[in-house]
Amino acid sequence: MNEHEKMKELIPFYAAGTLPDEEHEKVAQHLQQCPDCRAELQLWQIVSREIRTSDQKLGAPALKQTPVKKPSRHLWKAWYILRSQVTLIRTEIWVSSALVSLLGIIVALLVENVNAIYFLAPFVSAAGVAYIYGMQNDPALELTLATPISAQQILMARLTLVFGYNILLTFSSSILLLLLNGQIAQFSWAVLLDWMAPMAFLSSLALFCSLLWGSVNAVVVAYSLWVVKGIMPELDCSGQYAAGFTTLVDFLNRVETPSHLLFISLLLFALAMWFTGKKQIKLLA
Ligand SMILES: [Zn+2]
Repeated sequence: MNEHEKMKELIPFYAAGTLPDEEHEKVAQHLQQCPDCRAELQLWQIVSREIRTSDQKLGAPALKQTPVKKPSRHLWKAWYILRSQVTLIRTEIWVSSALVSLLGIIVALLVENVNAIYFLAPFVSAAGVAYIYGMQNDPALELTLATPISAQQILMARLTLVFGYNILLTFSSSILLLLLNGQIAQFSWAVLLDWMAPMAFLSSLALFCSLLWGSVNAVVVAYSLWVVKGIMPELDCSGQYAAGFTTLVDFLNRVETPSHLLFISLLLFALAMWFTGKKQIKLLA
């Protein structure tokens, strides 16, 4: 890694004002002679300033002569947080999700079955969500913890962006496919819920696991579960444990309704939020 790359990595921390004096000085010196890094710094400063000022502005007790209604204040704040997080989410998440969705469309066209898209969607979404808030070195986290926004708000904003993006991708892929096949009439709310619930379930599971064991392990857990669930009904149940196994498969099939899955998703999400709150206290202590 050359000097420029090293300095560029430190810029988010420089912008957040969290570097030790010596390193701060080094970055400052490099910035004077490197237009590329100055541009990078500008980006991070905009993000950080936007979060800070929006929070101060919105958090200030009723600005004179401009009574702002409470709901819209909250909406504005949510909007600022969302916007600030767009640039901080790993670019790979946006790109790879789009690529896999494209792959899903191609496979679905080849096998002439829209279910190929619905089968792939939970995998894509879970992978994206597992990486929004890992335990790895996260300059964005450092920056945001230096602002008056809570880690839970950051988590919620990123989850909304990544999960929403994946819902949008799956939705547009399936509409495109149904249009191409001339089967658009098959579309219904029940179908929508049928694929959204597994996506929400696997994503919230991945999120929860990523907070506990890191992103990679979270993806492994979520993927294993989904693959096992996928091949379970195909397994030959003629052994000694056949009866018990069949009962288990029956039980899981009965439990796995969209409403049950959505309920479990909410539970996992609430746990993830609680855990993030606890972790932030530890980080700041
Ligand atoms: Zn540079």
